[in-house]
Amino acid sequence: MKRAIYDEDHEAFRASVKEFVDRSVTPHAEEHLEAKGLPRDFWLEAGKQGLLGLEVPEQYGGMGAGDYRFNAVLTEELSKVNASLPSCVGIHSDIVAPYLVELTTEEQRQRWLPGVASGELLTAIGMTEPSGGSDLAALKTTAVRDGDQWVLSGSKTFITNGYSADLVVVAARTSPEKKAKGITLFGVSTSLPGFSRGRKLDKVGQPESDTAELFFEDLRLTDDDVVGELDQGFIHMMQNLPQERLNCAVSNLAHAKQILAETIVYAQERKAFGQGIGSFQHNKFLLAELVTQIDVTQSFVDECVLAHTRAELTPIDAAKAKWWTSQVQNDVLDHCVQLHGGYGFMNEYRVARAWKDARVSKIWAGSNEIMKELIGRDLGL
Ligand SMILES: Cc1cc2nc3c(=O)[nH]c(=O)nc-3n(C[C@H](O)[C@H](O)[C@H](O)COP(=O)(O)OP(=O)(O)OC[C@H]3O[C@@H](n4cnc5c(N)ncnc54)[C@H](O)[C@@H]3O)c2cc1C
Repeated sequence: MKRAIYDEDHEAFRASVKEFVDRSVTPHAEEHLEAKGLPRDFWLEAGKQGLLGLEVPEQYGGMGAGDYRFNAVLTEELSKVNASLPSCVGIHSDIVAPYLVELTTEEQRQRWLPGVASGELLTAIGMTEPSGGSDLAALKTTAVRDGDQWVLSGSKTFITNGYSADLVVVAARTSPEKKAKGITLFGVSTSLPGFSRGRKLDKVGQPESDTAELFFEDLRLTDDDVVGELDQGFIHMMQNLPQERLNCAVSNLAHAKQILAETIVYAQERKAFGQGIGSFQHNKFLLAELVTQIDVTQSFVDECVLAHTRAELTPIDAAKAKWWTSQVQNDVLDHCVQLHGGYGFMNEYRVARAWKDARVSKIWAGSNEIMKELIGRDLGL
């Protein structure tokens, strides 16, 4: 089905992203795998190409696109390469950038945004802690007032870009007695004394992304490092999570769609009993079901992208898009592995890596159970 959400400008941007991927990503895919992360050259190249500053206003060096469809195009193209790439880039430019654009003072914008757009200031966001991620309101990291400073203590885990980030938006408890209404966001420079990181975490999938545990030991901050309103951090996160979940939905679907397209070619070429394996009725019907699932899901995700472009996407629709696409992605990729037979279980095959990479999409950015909890609550249950 022809998709109607993109115009010529979006397609021209897509062509420039593809050109970037061919030039700066594909030739280095093996290096990214071995390094378990993306080198700074990658970020600087992406910044030069204008891919990191879609959310950043032009006066701070960004593109100031003001149209979420450009973010979606970028996510789709990166997701065709692997699932790590849209995750790392997405955290920086689609998830952290809105906090730094919308909640900051003029001084903070001047301090942070040019580097965000150029790739010189790599960002991450630290919400999850070793003691839990789903119950964000229960987080334990504290920022305690000491004179005109804040003293940050605690730790975060599973932080995407955490090993390389220069700036981490950290959620910390500033009013212990207030639970959700006592959390504040801080922009924490990783060069400050009291900041340290653990090793790169050894994940089941997405080896190209760096994921780390972060530690804050009596790390001193000032009021100039507060992002948004004091004690309003939980609300700020709730306001920004729909965009994060939409980013996941776009990525989940584009990744699954790409691997399914490659699997259809495989099913045409791979022979058993003297015929292409795709021509057996079981597999033909299965592939028909999978492309239908993808196409029908695409319509919903496109509607969400359009709604978000108009600033009308509800947290509930974002939650639906996030859990549904991650389930579809996992189901589709599991069938793709099966259709590849033994090769589907070999790490050197893209389908095997994609299958492992996809598993986390049901866990992160708010697990699928939490998404259903939100949707259920909205039903009055
Ligand atoms: C690769 C990776 C990258 C990540 N990147 C980041 C990042 O950049 N920044 C960041 O802050 N976090 C990040 N996360 C953390 C991620 O968002 C959390 O793992 C996720 O929110 C779940 O939290 P948890 O792991 O503590 O699980 P828990 O909260 O301990 O949950 C465990 C299980 O219990 C279920 N559960 C919990 N509460 C309920 C409930 N009320 N009803 C039903 N079931 C429930 C969950 O769904 C889950 O299945 C990342 C995680 C991974 C694996």
